[in-house]
Amino acid sequence: MTRVINFSSGPATLPESVLQQAAHDMMDWRGSGMSVMEMSHRGPEFTEILGQTQSLIRSLLNVPDNYVVLLLQGGAIAENAIVPMNLIGKTGQADYVVSGVWSEKSMKEAAKYGQINEAASSQGSGFLSMPQQSSWKLSAQAAYVHMCSNETIGGVECHWTPDTGDVPLVADMSSNIMSGPLDVSRYGLIYAGAQKNMGPSGVTLVIARRDLLGHALPATPSAFNYQLQADNESMYNTPPTYAIYIMGLVIAHIKEQGGLSAMQLHNQRKADLLYEFLDHSQMFTNRVAREDRSRMNVTFFLKDESLNVAFLQGAEKEGMVQLRGHRSAGGMRASIYNAMSLQSVQRLRDYMHRFEKDKA
Ligand SMILES: *Cc1c(COP(=O)(O)O)cnc(C)c1O
Repeated sequence: MTRVINFSSGPATLPESVLQQAAHDMMDWRGSGMSVMEMSHRGPEFTEILGQTQSLIRSLLNVPDNYVVLLLQGGAIAENAIVPMNLIGKTGQADYVVSGVWSEKSMKEAAKYGQINEAASSQGSGFLSMPQQSSWKLSAQAAYVHMCSNETIGGVECHWTPDTGDVPLVADMSSNIMSGPLDVSRYGLIYAGAQKNMGPSGVTLVIARRDLLGHALPATPSAFNYQLQADNESMYNTPPTYAIYIMGLVIAHIKEQGGLSAMQLHNQRKADLLYEFLDHSQMFTNRVAREDRSRMNVTFFLKDESLNVAFLQGAEKEGMVQLRGHRSAGGMRASIYNAMSLQSVQRLRDYMHRFEKDKA
């Protein structure tokens, strides 16, 4: 068996111990005589898996008691609609901060459900920075303020927690949740697809302050009504059972490694390794504002783009895949989420160093 070093932006690499555990459990989960995929979602076995996964999430993220933890289907793109359907009803308006492709998409989708105000945007500078809090034009009438904490495509991360006063802050944390400590109480609602930092695709984590629920627009589909899902322990419809099981294994693994402060150190070391190299390179460059550089998605360009193909082919020969940047951004991107090892990032850095010397 040969495993590649997978820099995919998501679905992304998973801890090998988790994959081995899943393989071990495949035919018979803990003597149940069933694969997790074959279990009734209401049976005692899956009830245990769901309960354990939820309590792992609560303890790892220190989720306060007045917040619900939901495990839903649809991914972050579905949440772009589900959030306004559930939250905008109070005033009919919401503020959106646009820092890249994902938050822009969120804002466009939300416009179907109410009046959307663009509170700030870094589009003018090509989405290479996070709009500073002082530039945010918040409206008193907003039911919530939406932001994206890590722009997966641009490689722009928000390293501070915005202050939106009494207006609840909603964040798409798909690509940096569980990458470091997080104060959930500063947010009204957090959502994240699992397939970057905490599991496979198919399950979406929603953490919401209880008092924000119960105001859904009348046309909200029942399966996407947070209140209904909270009342039914995320089982109003059949939840993505297998994805939840794998997510539980991933989160247990994060905990074993020392939890979120250990993740923070691990992720910072990996990112520093690449950015330090990029900053000293004559051949490669990163364009993101220094203070907003993502620890998760390191975007970079070859100054001579005619070398792109040779760079990617050489990487692939050494077992390093998925380094091509998003089609809308061009260039390269190394996604180095929780499950990416420091050694693998060193391998990439060493390859880039050799490539630069060889082509000089
Ligand atoms: C990956 C990603 C999405 C899209 O997730 P889907 O599972 O395709 O819905 C949305 N927002 C961010 C920040 C992402 O990284």
